Amino acid sequence: MHRSGATMAWNVFKFCTALRGLGSIMILLVLGVVGVTYYAVVLTVYGPYLFGGLLDCLIATAVLILFHSLLAMLLWSYFAVVFTDPGSVPPNWRPAIDEERGEADPLVGSESSHGQSDRSNQQIRYCRKCNQLKPPRCHHCSVCGRCVLKMDHHCVWVVNCVGAQNYKYFLLFLFYTFWETTLVTLSLLPEFIAFFSDGEIIGSPGSLATTFLAFVLNLAFALSVLGFLIMHINLVSGNTTTIEAYEKKTTPKWRYDLGRRKNFEQVFGMDKRYWFIPAYSEEDLRKMPALHGLEYPSKPDFECQEF
Ligand SMILES: [Zn+2]
Ligand SMILES: [Zn+2]
Repeated sequence: MHRSGATMAWNVFKFCTALRGLGSIMILLVLGVVGVTYYAVVLTVYGPYLFGGLLDCLIATAVLILFHSLLAMLLWSYFAVVFTDPGSVPPNWRPAIDEERGEADPLVGSESSHGQSDRSNQQIRYCRKCNQLKPPRCHHCSVCGRCVLKMDHHCVWVVNCVGAQNYKYFLLFLFYTFWETTLVTLSLLPEFIAFFSDGEIIGSPGSLATTFLAFVLNLAFALSVLGFLIMHINLVSGNTTTIEAYEKKTTPKWRYDLGRRKNFEQVFGMDKRYWFIPAYSEEDLRKMPALHGLEYPSKPDFECQEF
């Protein structure tokens, strides 16, 4: 029993080390897909159309402007997720003390509530690997080897944990990736159909292969990112992280669910001008502690609930 536990821990450790090693390769892979797509859309197909007839030129201009704008937003969001720390626990962090009761606030809702007498149900979670207390919604990531605030998941594509301070950037990355890959799929579709029909084929075998590859890759990304996007729209509207969605199955009421609009603002901030860019306004950062990842407002009926 003991031995098998140790073996499993060792396997998990090896797996996590492998994931860490994958790091920069994934960034190169993302840039590679962007490069192949750029070559196909801009250099092979739509660039030459600019010098064709008026209609071709207009369509090509529209496609190229849209392509470059979405690409700029996609890369900005991508590198914002890669380089933004999702949030770590400050050294010697302690939960806020509840003055009235003279003890720390309960951080997690206990599964069975036995009234006032059962105070042992008040759990302040502790991470044995980091030797520190865990703030609410914080989880230990075994790939990063540390506790991450409001951890959502460890993402191999961005070589970083997705948590409190970069979750919005991750969602924007999904959003722009979806629209960019959809645009590329639709704009390369006529080329793809022409390739399989009897029409004459123009271009070198190399550029044809790149166009074909770009079409298939972008179609695959558009479909899989759409699935992720729908999942995360549901999670944001319920103010839940991916980890919490697995954990809370037994609890029908969710203490952080403040209604759709407020749940959205807890991730995207209140300033509309910042909703579509991977950044927050200074005012939001000052006013909303949730954006920093240590404190989260909960439903009024949860605040006065007896544990
Ligand atoms: Zn930890
Ligand atoms: Zn991680």
